[in-house]
Amino acid sequence: MNSRENTGQVTVSSTPLVLVSFDIDGTLEAGDPPGPIPFTLVDEAKARGYIIGSSSDRTLTEQRAMWHAAGIEVDFVCNKHRLSEMTSHFNCERKLHIGDTTSDEYYAGLAGFEFHYVTQLPAPATRGWIF
Ligand SMILES: [Mg+2]
Repeated sequence: MNSRENTGQVTVSSTPLVLVSFDIDGTLEAGDPPGPIPFTLVDEAKARGYIIGSSSDRTLTEQRAMWHAAGIEVDFVCNKHRLSEMTSHFNCERKLHIGDTTSDEYYAGLAGFEFHYVTQLPAPATRGWIF
């Protein structure tokens, strides 16, 4: 259920808070090389109230510039090796990182995140997936 009603009041959601971290290069459409994830997917995650951001080898300045150009306000940007410390304050029940390399998988594992290869994302409505 949606946690926000049109009354202007924020209600407490019973849905566990989900955090999704996106790699950029090879993962997002604006990456170099471009990846298969369109910004519409990021928008959908955000619309569902998920905590979203990027975890990339790019500098934080570059990451912020990319999100700004895409018109998406994210909750965090970080370097891959700092994924855990940069997201721990969100206190989410599920944390996922989506990326395209074994480096993504390695750092996601270190941070205690679920990891999904961008080329092997579960289909929407698959049990256990985020959509
Ligand atoms: Mg990558």
